Amino acid sequence: MIAGIDLGTTNSLIGVYESGFPTLLADSEGKRLIPSVVFYPENGIPVVGREGLRMQALHPERAAASVKRFIGRRFGEEETEALSGPKGSPVTLPINGKNLTPEQVSAEILKTLKVVAEERLGTSVNRVVITVPAYFNDAQRAATRRAGELAGFVVERILSEPTAAALAYGLDRLQENSKVAVYDLGGGTFDLSILRLDNGVFQVLSTHGDTRLGGDDLDEAIAGLLLREAGITALTLEMKVRLKEAARAAKELLSNEESTAVLLPFMEGSKSLEVPLTRSQVEEICGPIIARTRAHCLRALEDAGLKSEEIDQVILVGGSTRMPLVQRLVAEIFGKQPNLSQHPDEAVALGAVLQGAILEGNLRNIVLLDVTPLSLGIETFGGLMNVIIPRNTTIPTKAGEMFTNAVAGQSGMKIIILQGERELAGDNWTLGSFQIPFPPLPKGAARVGVQFSIDADGILQVLARDTVTGSEKIVEIQSAVEVSDEAVEAMLAGSLEHAIEDMDARIFTEARLKAEEMLPAVKVALEQFGSELPESEVLDIREKSSEVQAALASKETTRLNQAISSLDDATQTLATKLIERGMG
Ligand code: ADP
Ligand code: MG
Repeated sequence: MIAGIDLGTTNSLIGVYESGFPTLLADSEGKRLIPSVVFYPENGIPVVGREGLRMQALHPERAAASVKRFIGRRFGEEETEALSGPKGSPVTLPINGKNLTPEQVSAEILKTLKVVAEERLGTSVNRVVITVPAYFNDAQRAATRRAGELAGFVVERILSEPTAAALAYGLDRLQENSKVAVYDLGGGTFDLSILRLDNGVFQVLSTHGDTRLGGDDLDEAIAGLLLREAGITALTLEMKVRLKEAARAAKELLSNEESTAVLLPFMEGSKSLEVPLTRSQVEEICGPIIARTRAHCLRALEDAGLKSEEIDQVILVGGSTRMPLVQRLVAEIFGKQPNLSQHPDEAVALGAVLQGAILEGNLRNIVLLDVTPLSLGIETFGGLMNVIIPRNTTIPTKAGEMFTNAVAGQSGMKIIILQGERELAGDNWTLGSFQIPFPPLPKGAARVGVQFSIDADGILQVLARDTVTGSEKIVEIQSAVEVSDEAVEAMLAGSLEHAIEDMDARIFTEARLKAEEMLPAVKVALEQFGSELPESEVLDIREKSSEVQAALASKETTRLNQAISSLDDATQTLATKLIERGMG
């Protein structure tokens, strides 16, 4: 089992793919979002999550929050301004008299997620996919991987958050080349990424954002408003914490309600804070902060060389996008309604779970690929490729063709299923073969229908039916759509490189088949009617036949085609006689 983890700045989540569905797992309090806060008590083991958040309120110096900002950073780099240490060396955080690395702190969060998952599932969870922002550099990704290893995980993949979100929204099923904008406003960061679907895989075209812009800023602004309204000035640290918590709760509530009241007893001496709050008040105060995301969206579009009209889908990620104000702004910037089909603060984790399932093979790669990567067909007489479903056909699809026997008295047909772009069957890949029997018939009298169908899961079914007897056979091939990118590239390169010789080989084969059919027929006709023709004509036919034989042996396509057409001309009288006799 490979679990998926969203290791967020504010909240983290873990999920697994279970009996066909991606599921996010809840902790003992029934909550799926686990605050990314680690509290280090004087003695004893670190406390993570909601409990850590509560203790942080009392002893902020012993807690580590938002460490994602520092992971993989060195002193002196951006984000590290508040920390002091030797410039250029990896950052450490002074907590409770110790210097901890961001990896160590993150590992505590990951360990907690591991426990949550293992308790829910009753099995050990050792392999994971962990997401990181698209703008994370190699050092930040490597440090995140190390944090996973410190927590006792095998990190199967580090996945970009916007890509994970797009997977969760099911956008891998969009048309090839579709463009997706991912607007992610979380607790402390904002980023906008533009993705393009390329061969079933999302490419990040551009990403822009602000690592100091998120829900926390809104909480701060709302807390300020509450204080002004209540006329309170002096606050202890503990009161500040309580106020900010109340502001956040009110903000979240007002995403669904029009109004609320904030009540905090004993804020200043015996004075309580009691303030009614409406959504429009919150929108007024948050508006300017949220409006700062607009410039980043425009920059990201510009960097991707796209206009907003060219974006096919806009998806929302991060808890703060639950605010109607944010949704309106996004709709206005991109000129289209954002997709609201997923929980924005769970989409990244859900995508990580799906990626884990794909890596494990539980979810067929078809999730990422909805066209046939290469042509599918069967081998026909003479060893040629006969395409039935061309490359790049959207699935599900169905196509068929009728085939006949090339040899008289043949008692069945071998169906060889091929995949590839080459003219000769032998240069393509054989996916399978089977025999469809039929009673011996004259040449060209058998009628075998062959139908290829590919379902939405990418499974190819090949059906062959002898229409004379009605007997049929079906085979199923699992791997017709799952082909590695490298194999597809190699096949396409090969077909380009050999295009001319392949075409020549096909024309020669077709000529050879014709010659091999003609020579015995001419021989039989001469035996029957030779005596009725002038001797010179018989001699001429014999000569032209030998030339066809020689041309066949020479393997020269032009010579063979010329020889065939001379023999054709020379046998006109003979052919007429054959037809007359046949009719008689
Ligand atoms: P991150 O990706 O930064 O770890 P999340 O995506 O979990 O964080 O977002 C957390 C932020 O979302 C917090 O600021 C929280 O207050 C905010 N949030 C959560 N739910 C709502 C809501 N209903 N309305 C407004 N903001 C919300
Ligand atoms: Mg996030």
